[in-house]
Amino acid sequence: MKIGILKETSDKRVAIVPDLVKKWTEQKFEVLFENGCGEQSNFSDGQYQQAGGRGHKREEILSNGDILIVIKPLEDKETSKIKKGCLVISNYQPFFKTDLIEDIANKELSALSLDMIPRITIAQSMDVLSSMASIAGYKAVIMAADHLARYFPMLTTAAGSIPPAKVLVIGAGVAGLQAVATARRLGAVVEAFDTRLAAKEEVESLGAKFVEVEGAKDDASAGGYAVEQTEEYKQRQKELIFEKCVKADVIITTAQLRGKPAPKLVTKEMVKEMKPGSVIVDLASSTGGNCELTEDNKTIVHDNVVIIGNSDLASEVPQHASQLYSKNIENYTKVFFKEGEYELDLENEIVKSSCMVKEGNLLYQKQ
Ligand code: NAD
Repeated sequence: MKIGILKETSDKRVAIVPDLVKKWTEQKFEVLFENGCGEQSNFSDGQYQQAGGRGHKREEILSNGDILIVIKPLEDKETSKIKKGCLVISNYQPFFKTDLIEDIANKELSALSLDMIPRITIAQSMDVLSSMASIAGYKAVIMAADHLARYFPMLTTAAGSIPPAKVLVIGAGVAGLQAVATARRLGAVVEAFDTRLAAKEEVESLGAKFVEVEGAKDDASAGGYAVEQTEEYKQRQKELIFEKCVKADVIITTAQLRGKPAPKLVTKEMVKEMKPGSVIVDLASSTGGNCELTEDNKTIVHDNVVIIGNSDLASEVPQHASQLYSKNIENYTKVFFKEGEYELDLENEIVKSSCMVKEGNLLYQKQ
């Protein structure tokens, strides 16, 4: 079978790196790569060729591949060029856009969505959401430090002492914890907040303070995701966040609710009271943002506060992001790749959860 690796049109990463091309060609797959697919993440066409891949134009890969792999889903006009029966592996985010997978079904293709892989222990090594969130958390802090007109660490110099920057991280999941760790490494004083009490120990183990709001709803059955909180809790949370925002130099927000718009946690009023020159990096911007003022994919200045809305920061560390992404796909495809062929067994929990369309049959059901 022919596996096609496509160049991303709005991302610096590439889904598959040459290392995996080598392994797949040894397993009797033919690998076609779009010329220049790894250019922006520092993987050359020569490396793909050496690994056993064959360079082609995009159109040829679309019409010849039996399996196509791309990070961001293809647009409608390209889906119609794909050969019938092809399997496309991408991130469809069906909670937000069912039209893309409906389109795949209408064209009698199959689709696997990496963001739907279940968050179970055996699937941890396949979890692109976690590996990319970790990179985004790191990069968010680096970007904040770059925009801040102040130092992060405490410094005692002959010209006077500099106090450490105060960083507030809202949402201490994968991205948030990496933000905490990175800000701590740069010497900031860090506080972090999450509705999941399980995050407390993790935050504290990184040397940061956990901001606790009492009365959070139990999320034990939500598969590692947060659940929507009561109005009373939200009010208490708002008051506490207000108090912390006013003191912070940097706020990194990462709070998400699976399949729902991101909770609005940093209000206009809070931004107004923040110190001039403070920086907010909102990693939840693609689902509406945690800050009321966030504009997705834009950096704005409001009341002297820089607000960066970007949920795609993994793309800004493209080399390592591609390497980890490719490793996640390698581990995932091991479940259903067999000696140059594939078989989608819907009895398998990982395949069942991530298979959106099988041979034209729409399997995803909106909950
Ligand atoms: P996410 O991106 O969905 O959310 C980010 C964080 O925001 C979460 O920690 C969430 O609790 C928090 N949040 C949501 N609403 C909030 C609010 N109103 N206020 C403050 N915080 C809020 O989640 P994630 O970071 O991808 O993962 C969350 C958890 O799942 C982590 O503990 C992670 O370790 C776990 N996880 C497990 C597996 C696995 O076992 N395979 C894989 C990935 C993640």
